[in-house]
Amino acid sequence: MSLMPVDEARARLLDSARPLGRVARLPLAEARGGWLAEPVAARVTVPPHDNSAVDGIAVRHVDLGDGSVTLPVTLRVPAGDPPGELAPGGAARIFTGAPVPAGADTVLMQEDCEFGEGTVTPPPAARAQPGQNIRPAGQDAREGDTVLVAGTRVSARVIGLAASVGASELAVRRPRVVVLSSGDELLPAGAPPAPGKIYNSNGPLMESLLADSGFPDVTALWLPDDRGRTREALDQLLADPPDLVMASGGVSVGEEDHLRAVLEERGDLDFWRLAIKPGKPFTFGRLGDAGVPFFGLPGNPSAVLVCYLMLVLPYLRRCLGAGPVLPAPYRLPADFAVKPGPRQEYLRVRRVARDGGAVLEKHPNQSSGMLSSAVWADGLAVAPVGHGQAAGEPLDYYSFADLLA
Ligand code: AMP
Ligand code: MG
Repeated sequence: MSLMPVDEARARLLDSARPLGRVARLPLAEARGGWLAEPVAARVTVPPHDNSAVDGIAVRHVDLGDGSVTLPVTLRVPAGDPPGELAPGGAARIFTGAPVPAGADTVLMQEDCEFGEGTVTPPPAARAQPGQNIRPAGQDAREGDTVLVAGTRVSARVIGLAASVGASELAVRRPRVVVLSSGDELLPAGAPPAPGKIYNSNGPLMESLLADSGFPDVTALWLPDDRGRTREALDQLLADPPDLVMASGGVSVGEEDHLRAVLEERGDLDFWRLAIKPGKPFTFGRLGDAGVPFFGLPGNPSAVLVCYLMLVLPYLRRCLGAGPVLPAPYRLPADFAVKPGPRQEYLRVRRVARDGGAVLEKHPNQSSGMLSSAVWADGLAVAPVGHGQAAGEPLDYYSFADLLA
């Protein structure tokens, strides 16, 4: 059976993407890390008035004169006061952020002025530009402007901007995700070690990857290697269908791999087996009448990481209307050679500074069963299908930080 190229699998996933999950309206801080379900429009103009960028005085430029002139200070405008009006020939004491009074067109820094008893001697006209040190009204946004589009990730910067335009809540998508860890060998956290058993790392890994990408609404379940119990568990799940199911293990070709078989009974298998390393048994389909998207990731933990970042997350981003589904990769020279292979290989690498440039280093052990190399690495380099290359030639590189941004 031939393997589907990764790009083709991703294109199929993206084609099938639909808006996913309910819309939750949350206070700003609680929306952090989520994805905007709706655009945000400015309730107010920001800043609302022309305002001073410094502590100093506001004047009419024409009043400055050619030489040294002393002006009476006729007005005081602290931040928070409504804008006043500056009489011709006078100067206003003004503070950072305070509205520039009507009539004034220039603000001078207090360090450049000499203050007397109720007077000020500003620098001459030649040393001041009209309009200087004034931040114009609407510099950031005008009332009614769309300042954030649907599909934007809610970062701290986004929260700051939303707050500045008067938003108190943000509408974010909150898909309900079920994470399944399958395998009789798996021990839950805290259980005593036992012969033949390993701790379930994929469950916590998948939950955390989802949380890191803005999907905190996750239920994690365990499935034994048993056809009947796997069927029962999926039936139970479908009684109240989640928005997405992501499973690990049980989709390979072993006798104890039941998940794919039950997916075919209880839904539709869309595709299986990709030309990807690690991650060959990757499976995608839809479950039940609701057609719940089902991602069957391989059991090997590094395959879970790679398949999530390269296939599941791009799908989720498309469902949420986020801009690019993958960041543009950097092209960086690798300090290692690559052997030709039949599958696109995602290597755990580090970007290091060398001779003033960046070079990729590869972890010596790329076993799909291990995670220490994934922690050592700061990203993934893509070795293309079919042709090898010598050390020094470039590879596409994605940092984990960019992938999860
Ligand atoms: P499978 O795809 O079920 O054949 O599993 C492939 C490999 O991944 C086996 O070595 C499993 O023990 C391991 N594995 C499967 N699920 C997990 C898990 N949740 N945590 C850690 N290792 C796992
Ligand atoms: Mg298994």
